[in-house]
This record gives sequence, structure tokens and C-alpha cells, in this order.
Amino acid sequence: MGTFSRSSLEHLRSRIDLVEVLNPYVKFQRSGAAFKGLCPFHEEKSPSFIIQKGDSHYHCFGCGAHGDAIQFLMTHLRMSFVEAVEHLADRFQVPLEEVETNQPKGTPKTILKEALVKASQFYQFCLLHTPDGQEALVYLYARGIDLDFINTFEFGYAPRSTHVFQKMMNEQKISNAILEEVGLVTRGRDFFSDRITIPIRDSVGNIIGFSARKFKPDTYGGKYVNSPETPLFKKSKILFALSYSRKTIAKERRALVVEGQIDALRLIHSGFLWTVAGQGTAFGEEQAKDLIQLGVRQVYLALDGDNAGQEATLKIGHIFQKNGVEVLVVQLPEKCDPDLILQEKGPQEFQKFLEKSIEYIQFYVDRLSLIMNIQTPAGKNEIVQTIAKKIREWDHPLMVRESLRSLAKITQVPESILNTGEENSPQIYIKKSASVTFFEVDPDRILEADLLRWLFLMGDTLPELLPLAEENLTSDHFRIHAARILFEKYKTAVKEGRTRDLLSLAIDLDQAEAQLFLAEVLQKKVNRDRAKACFIETIEKMLERHWMQQREEIKLKIYSGRCSEEEVLQLAKRFDQLKKERPQIII
Ligand code: ATP
Ligand code: MN
Repeated sequence: MGTFSRSSLEHLRSRIDLVEVLNPYVKFQRSGAAFKGLCPFHEEKSPSFIIQKGDSHYHCFGCGAHGDAIQFLMTHLRMSFVEAVEHLADRFQVPLEEVETNQPKGTPKTILKEALVKASQFYQFCLLHTPDGQEALVYLYARGIDLDFINTFEFGYAPRSTHVFQKMMNEQKISNAILEEVGLVTRGRDFFSDRITIPIRDSVGNIIGFSARKFKPDTYGGKYVNSPETPLFKKSKILFALSYSRKTIAKERRALVVEGQIDALRLIHSGFLWTVAGQGTAFGEEQAKDLIQLGVRQVYLALDGDNAGQEATLKIGHIFQKNGVEVLVVQLPEKCDPDLILQEKGPQEFQKFLEKSIEYIQFYVDRLSLIMNIQTPAGKNEIVQTIAKKIREWDHPLMVRESLRSLAKITQVPESILNTGEENSPQIYIKKSASVTFFEVDPDRILEADLLRWLFLMGDTLPELLPLAEENLTSDHFRIHAARILFEKYKTAVKEGRTRDLLSLAIDLDQAEAQLFLAEVLQKKVNRDRAKACFIETIEKMLERHWMQQREEIKLKIYSGRCSEEEVLQLAKRFDQLKKERPQIII
């Protein structure tokens, strides 16, 4: 995760034009010194979403939505804090300086990204305007990939002649060292040669690498060659095409996962705007986590009908189900992929396949039935036990119970055999400790991040929150240094009537540590309706924690053996006193 220098955030803040940021999502009309539009956060017929000219905040008089550019990108487009900052920096052409962290500093990302954009432009030019590119175009047209498709997704052609590419790049002041760093040149040679190039983008649309397909049988190497790992391109993290589909995915809370790049792009081009690809069958926890973070509740898996595709379906399905996401399997004929279906039969036909998709458990049973005989008692037993064992690895109790029930129904065995009842088998609800979480959990950090999240995201809408916190909490109540600083900064900003948009808060923070913590605070969403109640609950927990800690400290002193009799007596008195003074929140 990057942290940014104070001066570059300052610069960015001064350049952000909120109306411009929101323009693609809200139709604004000028009305005096304000811009008005239909609120993107709730359904409405007359505009109550307002930005005062020059203000860094929007406000909706209908639903009370309120925030700044960063908050909009985070809530409406579900970007993380860092993604939002990077997105704005790109949009307003502000180079972001990263603060020294532990890693050695490489070339700034903006420079690497620019090199990839220039390369992509070069490849596009070669595809459309050079004799060698013609052959590639013929191949694409024959596959039903027309000019609109090519232009939308910026397909290109990497020419065979080495040095032309490097020379053109060098002329645009992009050195070979940079080209090496972004993986376009290796050991002095062009990495992609005589192939069709497809840009690979990060989740907000920056090009981070390329996937290149061969189109002549005698081209050296596999069907696809992807960029090597670079500072920008991390294979295990990529969700191909997410930049085109993230908004719809976040809105509809479902995703369609396919295997191939062309499958994903063709689906998106045909209106299935909720598609992503995992670059082949490689799709792991990281990608799943990204989709879950977007709020996805339901995943359709439409992998190839071949064996590899079906095996991957099992594996990927398990990852999602394990995390509480419902998985539906789209069953495609054996030698088929979504691209072929769309190309040969059109979107309606694919829609039919979607509608016929089956539950993950059903798919699992069908798949095992291919290798075991479900008609025999032993076969059925093995199938049922294998699947039940997998189901019990999932994290969500309700999901486990319902899935076991569904398994019982599908295989027609009594539910009691699978222990689906709550009463008689509580043990199935206990998560295995190994799968509890990826991260180290620090309850203090979580509690204090919660407090700040309510304050920062809802404090403007509910002005009573800050006084509540001030009345009840002092800086002693914080254990996380970064949280204490952030709380103080926020208080001061409010006192001095200074703007307290999220970017300003980040600017005010000198330490990378505090910026990181802020990003963490803003990573989760808030439930607006329960804001005040939750905020009060959080304060109560902090009071309680502090109270326990004070008692603990006294106890330690008494046990330390370093106090006189008299002191021990005093401490014991104080301890008893404290015990009676259980803190009460002042409201
Ligand atoms: P196309 O339609 O262009 O033939 P596809 O997507 O149908 O491509 P598959 O063979 O089904 O190709 O492979 C699925 C995905 O696996 C590809 O889109 C690509 O991401 C990846 N892939 C396939 N072959 C290779 C390879 N040789 N090297 C790297 N990745 C590959
Ligand atoms: Mn294909």
C-alpha cells in the first residue's frame, strides 16, 4: 500500500474539481452559485444533490448523503482510499510522490504507467495502420471482433521487427531501462513480437501490462503470452476487465467469472457488464477477496466446458462459498466457451445458459457422480461424505447449514445423517482456527478504527457525534498512536472551522503510519442508518476497556512487590473504588 507525501497530497487537493469528478455519474445543472443534480445515492425525480461552487463537499437534501471526492469514489465506486487518491491524481494530472517506506524506492509509478500507455498507443497504431498489422486485423475480423470492439478495448499489434518499438519509445523519451522495468523489453529484446496485444488494466483502468495472442500457427511460444511480473503487474492479484465492470458489479452485487480475456471482453461488449476473468483457470483467494470487498453476494462461474475448466469451477466455487458468497455454475457444452457462444449464437443464447445455471452443490454432486457410482450405497456415501466435509470448511454457519440441507435434498439422504440441525451438532458451527482470517487481528486497532470511521464518514451529517466523543473520551482512551493523532487532528479541524475532507486529514498526517491507519479506517463501509447507535456503542467499549486497563495497572503495581505497605493499602482502596465506578457514557 502506498503512502503519499504531504506536498503531493496538498497539490492534489488544490487541483480537485468535485463537479468534474462527479460529472460522469451525476447530470449537473447550474443554479446560481451551486450545481444541482439527481442524487446518485437514492432514487429521486427532482434534483436535491448539491455542490456549492468551489466547495469540496457534496450534499443531498433528500437522503442526507454528504462527502468529498474521496468519499464519493469510495462509496459510489467502491474504491479503496489509496485507489481513490491514485484515481484523482491521474484525473487531475498530479504526480504523486510516495513516502519512503521499507521497500527500496523504484521509478515512480506514474512514469511506469505513462510508458505503458505510450506502448499501447504504439501497438494500436501498428494494428490499424501498418501492413503487418493487416494480417492481425484479418484474424480478429474472422473471429467476429470488429473495429468497435478493437477500439473499445484498445487492441493492438506488437510488430515483429525488433528495435522499431524501442526506437519509437526512445523518441518519446522513454528509456530502455523503463521499458525493462515495465516488462516490455527483456535483455534488450522486445518482449512481445508479432502478436495481438490486449491491455491488462488495474481495477481503476490504468494499464499495468499486456496479454498477447499469437495468430499465426508458427509464432514461437504459447497461445497467450502475458507481461512478466513487474512493480505494477502482479499476476496473483489481477481481475481482468474489472475496470469495465466494477461499477455494475458493485451495484448489482454479483459477478460473472470467466476464464479467458476475450470471453470477458466479448461479454462486456455484449452488455454483460458484470464480467471479470481470472486469466485462465488461475483464480485464487486474492481475486475472490477483491470481489467480496466490492460487496458481491452471488457469483456465476462460466468457465470452459473442458476438464480443466470444470476442475477450476470446483476450486473457485469453494473459495467463494467458503466466504459466504453464493455460487451458481453456468454449464457450457464441452468444446465451448462464452466467446464462441456469443459469436455464433448471440447474447440471448448466452442469457439462456445463465438462466439454466445450477447451484454449486448440485454441480459438485454431478461432478463426483462422473467418477463414483451414486447408485450404489458405497458410492453415494462417499460422494455425500466428501462434499459434506468440504462444506464444513466454510466460514458461515448459516451457509454450512443450508448447504448441508441442500446436499441432503439433492442426494436424497435424511438430513439427520448430515447433522444439519442446530440442536444436536453445535460443533459444525465452530470455525477451524486455521481459517479464521488472513490478517493478524488487533482488537484495539479495530475498535479505534471503528470510532474514527463513524466520525469521519458521518460526522458532517450528524454533528452531534464529535461532542459525544469529546465529552467522553480523552487521548488516554486511545491505545493506537495513529488513532490518537487522527482524533486530535479531526477535533482541531472542526474547532478551527477548517475543511475536514478526507484528503485534508491525510495531508495533515506526517507519519506514514498514520496515513496507513487512515486508509485502514476508510476501508470498511458504514451503515448510515445505525450510525449514532453504533458510535455510542463504540465509545462505551472504549470506556470499558480503559476502565479495565486502569484496574489491571493497579493490580500489577500491587503485585510488583515494589510498594510499601502504606502504598499497597492506598492502591487497594483505589482499586475497590474504581470497581464501583463502572464508566457510564454521558449522552
Ligand atoms: P482464445 O479464444 O483466444 O483461443 P481462450 O480464452 O478461449 O482464448 P483458453 O485456451 O480457453 O483460451 O485459455 C483460457 C485462458 O487461459 C486464456 O484466455 C489465457 O488467459 C490463458 N491461457 C491460455 N493459454 C495460455 C498460454 N499458453 N499461456 C498463458 N496463458 C494462457
Ligand atoms: Mn476462446
